[in-house]
Amino acid sequence: MEENRVCIEFESRSQNEGFARVAVSAFVSQLDPTIEEIADVKTAVSEAVTNSIIHGYENDKKGIIKIESTIYGKEVTITVKDYGKGIDNIDQAREPLYTSRPDLERSGMGFTVMESFMDTLEVESEKGKGTKITMTKKFS
Ligand code: ATP
Ligand code: MG
Repeated sequence: MEENRVCIEFESRSQNEGFARVAVSAFVSQLDPTIEEIADVKTAVSEAVTNSIIHGYENDKKGIIKIESTIYGKEVTITVKDYGKGIDNIDQAREPLYTSRPDLERSGMGFTVMESFMDTLEVESEKGKGTKITMTKKFS
């Protein structure tokens, strides 16, 4: 089976979140997803990119975010990577309702949303070096 891969890189500006969401969903559309499946992917990408912007780079617009999407068969693997401040405690960060920024009125549901809308979610992070989210989803 042949593999297909695209990679995009953009600055950590909130205006680019919509671009990232549409770019990934356009790539995934070659798998003939349902409207619901596309919506799931868009939401998961938005959550990951928003996290990189507000937590990883703390709204510094010059941070770099990279998204790589790979299709193999009926499955897509999406990685969202930043070079920001990283996560102290990954298990705690993944807990529903945990947020390090209640002052920003975040609800602490981003990882929970990514986990429920995608089939798998892996979080790798190193303090001061950055964070890499890997998500997969298999289409019907
Ligand atoms: P919500 O997504 O509901 O607005 P939230 O962003 O705080 O709130 P999650 O997306 O679940 O909730 O993330 C949980 C916590 O993990 C964040 O509060 C933050 O501390 C940490 N975190 C997530 N992504 C990153 C990242 N890319 N870099 C640094 N810290 C992160
Ligand atoms: Mg979040």
